[in-house]
Amino acid sequence: MRPTDNVRFLKGVGEKRAELFRQLGVRDVGTLLSLYPRDYKDLSHPRTLLEAPFDRPCAVKLKVTSGIKEQYIRKNMILYKFLASDKETDAVITLFNSRFVAESLEVDKEYIFWGLVERTLLGCSMSAPEIYETSEQRIIPVYPQTAGLNSKAIGKIIAGALSACELEEPMPQRILESFGLCDYKTALHNIHNPRTKADITKARNRLCFDELFFLQLGILLQKSTRTKETKIKITDRYLNEFLSLLPFTLTDAQKRAITESLQDMQSGKPMSRLVQGDVGSGKTMVAAALCYCAAKEGFQSVIMAPTEVLATQHYTTLQKLFEPQGLKLALLTGSVTKSKKNKLKTALKSGDIDLVIGTHAVIEDNVEFKNLGLVVTDEQHRFGVEQRTKLSVKGEHPHILVMSATPIPRTMSLIFYGDLDISIIDTLPNGRQPIETFFIDGKKRQRAFNYVKKHLDEGRQGYIICPMVEENETVDLASAVEYHAKLQAEDFKDYSVGLLHGKMKPKEKQQVMTDFKEGKIQLLVSTTVVEVGVDVPNAVIMLIENAERFGLSQLHQLRGRIGRGQHKSTCILVSDYSHGDTAARLKFITSTTDGFKIADEDLKLRGPGDFLGKRQHGLPELKIADLTEDMDIFRAAGKAAKEIYLNDPYLELPENRVLRKPVERLFETTRQFGCN
Ligand code: ADP
Ligand code: MG
Repeated sequence: MRPTDNVRFLKGVGEKRAELFRQLGVRDVGTLLSLYPRDYKDLSHPRTLLEAPFDRPCAVKLKVTSGIKEQYIRKNMILYKFLASDKETDAVITLFNSRFVAESLEVDKEYIFWGLVERTLLGCSMSAPEIYETSEQRIIPVYPQTAGLNSKAIGKIIAGALSACELEEPMPQRILESFGLCDYKTALHNIHNPRTKADITKARNRLCFDELFFLQLGILLQKSTRTKETKIKITDRYLNEFLSLLPFTLTDAQKRAITESLQDMQSGKPMSRLVQGDVGSGKTMVAAALCYCAAKEGFQSVIMAPTEVLATQHYTTLQKLFEPQGLKLALLTGSVTKSKKNKLKTALKSGDIDLVIGTHAVIEDNVEFKNLGLVVTDEQHRFGVEQRTKLSVKGEHPHILVMSATPIPRTMSLIFYGDLDISIIDTLPNGRQPIETFFIDGKKRQRAFNYVKKHLDEGRQGYIICPMVEENETVDLASAVEYHAKLQAEDFKDYSVGLLHGKMKPKEKQQVMTDFKEGKIQLLVSTTVVEVGVDVPNAVIMLIENAERFGLSQLHQLRGRIGRGQHKSTCILVSDYSHGDTAARLKFITSTTDGFKIADEDLKLRGPGDFLGKRQHGLPELKIADLTEDMDIFRAAGKAAKEIYLNDPYLELPENRVLRKPVERLFETTRQFGCN
């Protein structure tokens, strides 16, 4: 039997069970064998009643010391009660409706009881424990089960499959040796049928390694399948000219990102590069430099931003910088009128426009370019891969730059952006003062308001972020509107208070942003629309209401709206959850402004699923490895994968051919992901 055979051919599996297995994600014998136990019941080292932990089930070895009493509670509910003892301590055992089990127990005989031992003043007790013969003193795997297919049945079928299936070792011997891994067959046997805990650890190490190795190898191999050539060459000839336009000097990290990109762009291969840098690190200028160089060499560029506010902001910034140099810029968003849009499209097609900045509107089908050379997407994590791809087909193998702040932990970015080359901007521009963050409860709100006013009086500006998580919750929306009205009428009646929320028309939003930028609005009450990219350096104070409703990375992004100028900035988190986990989470963010650290913590707290949203699509599901716990294995496997990839990017060497199949299998259902 082979791993690709249908599970129906296994002993004990008919049409019906095959369907149940399908519900568990099992297609064939191979996927059945990688239906790993989600836990184990360790019956191999039973404890005494007094040793049992209070908060989780365990195995205890007890002798039945009394006869069994039946107790009718009501129809369909019979309790069976008896005493059992480990010599030191007695326990009252209660079974529910289990006549068969109760009747098969013998007085004075020892059994293993698996369950939670409860200890009260009245003594020990166990409710509905599972009962095993002492001959079963071993480690029992617990599988994810489904109605009609329980863990025990699954274990049996897997055991059958293990002895019937011919297993090929997918990993080259040299890798097994250099990473001290056990062979595949042993690993599978031990994960499903361990004799000791050490067996499980060793098996798990090996299987995690495989999974993370093939995942990373697969991602790397996608680089090999990228388009290999492009006629678009953009050099650094005009870089110094660009630098001389700026009112500041770029940080070394910014310069490095630009140089690395320009190297790609004159290599004859299309660039696929991610610029990752914390909020405020100055990613926009990296994009600007590249667009400038492209335009000077006769190529068009496009910058796509996730919101209209952000697109407009980029447009305004770059217009000021570039139009005096004779470059033609255009803004293309959903709210541009139809006739204007048509004119713009014609100009784009004829090559009259050098740089177009926009939202999703730029990926519409009828937007055409004359000679698109560079595609930039800002705040990449907001977009799906499809959108990136849609833009790049508008040119002939244009260069691609994606920019992202770091709500994604470093290790994760390897996975999400593994198909890209990466430049990291790890320093903030000079002269920035770190943002101070405080966490207060609602009772101190007035004091915080006074603090805000003090800053407004000094000519600075500020934000108040409303307790709104979903932009489409009308209740939240109403509360934002109401809250703004109250602040303007009462607490901040001597100041001009603006309101910005997701349901406003783009024109209105734009007006508010312009007023804020120009200082006409002193205090901006906003929902999370400002989260992304908004840049008003004079805004130095931010108060976030109901801070507990935001994730750590989101708080960090929000906070990144301040601390952008010369003045010291303060962020105040308001939440009435001043105890427990929530408070701990909020306190954490007051302790650091390092986006990477925050992302890592967020990952620990929320698990990987939340991070990825859209991006997770298109990645194979991990069956055994856990990206929050198995980072050491992840790195080791990554190293191994990289070595192979660098040596043999198409897996053509005979010794590497065996690696093809597992990669294909892992990525089978997720072919569409990739860059160019
Ligand atoms: P982000 O990386 O979050 O997109 P931005 O590109 O919006 O950051 O830059 C944040 C602010 O820093 C902007 O006001 C920008 O003009 C300014 N800035 C960028 N680079 C520098 C620099 N090298 N020196 C001083 N200010 C800079
Ligand atoms: Mg930005």
